[in-house]
Amino acid sequence: KRLEIPAAEHGIDASLLDERAVRVVTTLQDAGFEAYIVGGAVRDLLVGRRPKDFDVATNATPEQVKGLFRRAFIIGRRFRIVHVIHGRGRDHEVIEVSTFRAYMDASAAEQVAGNEKTSKKEIENKSHVVDADGRVLRDNVWGPQIEDAARRDFTINAMYYDPRRQLVVDYHHGFKDVRAQTLRMIGDPATRYREDPVRILRVVRFAAKLGFKIEPKTHKAIAAAIPLLANVPASRMFDEMIKLLQTGHALASLEQIQAQGLGRGVFPILDAALLNAPSGSARQKFIKLALADTDRRVGEGKAVAPSFMLACMLWHDVQAGWAERRAAGEHPSPALQQAIDAVFDARIGDISGRGKLAADMRDIWMMQPRFERRTPNGAFGLVEQPRFRAGFDFLRLRADVGEIPAELAEWWEDFSLGSPEDREALLEAVR
Ligand code: ATP
Ligand code: MG
Repeated sequence: KRLEIPAAEHGIDASLLDERAVRVVTTLQDAGFEAYIVGGAVRDLLVGRRPKDFDVATNATPEQVKGLFRRAFIIGRRFRIVHVIHGRGRDHEVIEVSTFRAYMDASAAEQVAGNEKTSKKEIENKSHVVDADGRVLRDNVWGPQIEDAARRDFTINAMYYDPRRQLVVDYHHGFKDVRAQTLRMIGDPATRYREDPVRILRVVRFAAKLGFKIEPKTHKAIAAAIPLLANVPASRMFDEMIKLLQTGHALASLEQIQAQGLGRGVFPILDAALLNAPSGSARQKFIKLALADTDRRVGEGKAVAPSFMLACMLWHDVQAGWAERRAAGEHPSPALQQAIDAVFDARIGDISGRGKLAADMRDIWMMQPRFERRTPNGAFGLVEQPRFRAGFDFLRLRADVGEIPAELAEWWEDFSLGSPEDREALLEAVR
């Protein structure tokens, strides 16, 4: 049943809307298509938060969408969607526009994939393909809005907002669940986790981020589905981990993960970082502080770099390898390089396409021993480094847990902020 919830009832604050997303919707509507803001943005608007990004759903095909905007690109294989770009450089914005898709359960999908009478059009759309476990691999069959809603994960993520008529469109009582602060899977939870085990991580992330409770049936089906996470491609797991760390509730999310019995094996990096750390250890203190620090920054609306968080997560691994190689007689700098290489190999695996991320992590780590050498050449060179700030923030976390003297971090703070005279005096003081 389709509910249309009027402004008087939903009370969405129009000032939280992104003007450019609204313009994408109205452009599509003016061209005769249905178009709505959809998913996470509607959920965030209903709880009174400013959405961090806006997705649009429409009955226009990707080609039709592309034809309506000057800077629009069709992307993606698993889901073909259109990126509509506004602005340039640092504050450019991407609005993701997706075409309403059909929902098929595993058996319907197999029929489409295996049916010779499947229309040529559907095959061109790459259809909807599932693997032996019922995991959906591709999903590009267009369908009506009601089916588009049904294929989404949680009721609170399956609503549409028409900014022109100020109506929330709701097929699964998502509005009621927002008000009741409940995360409820659409359909049969066990089946839906089987189709896409990443939904397990999503339920945990949203529970932590929104402070919502997980509806009992949605909760109960998690345990049996956990082993299926092993089939999810590493790159998707990696992206999901980064999202989790950037929610502003990273610490709470990791606690949720443990509470759900998801502790080990889900994210090898987090295992290495947190779960294998003896409680009360320096490593655990460092990571908890790093997570609390990122959560605070996100809360203040500041950006947090995934490279910084990952550098924190893996620091103790790097340190252990570094110490080992130095003990074996290697010089400090090559020993650190080698330790970093070994950690990348062991923990991140294939980081192709993430070259920048890895390079930034390496910079942060390689800067650490340089902070200990406070010579004129070294110090002036270091503050000029483009990544100095990240390296310094990292140094400060180390000082906060007592890994290095607080004095060292303070000295660098003063040096980086100081006038040329201050800097000379600071260098003189440590000569
Ligand atoms: P966030 O605030 O983290 O971006 P979101 O709900 O917007 O949360 P996205 O990953 O951006 O999450 O996905 C957008 C929408 O697409 C979701 O709200 C949901 O409707 C749908 N969706 C995303 N991932 C899945 C999935 N694995 N299964 C079903 N539906 C999904
Ligand atoms: Mg989103």
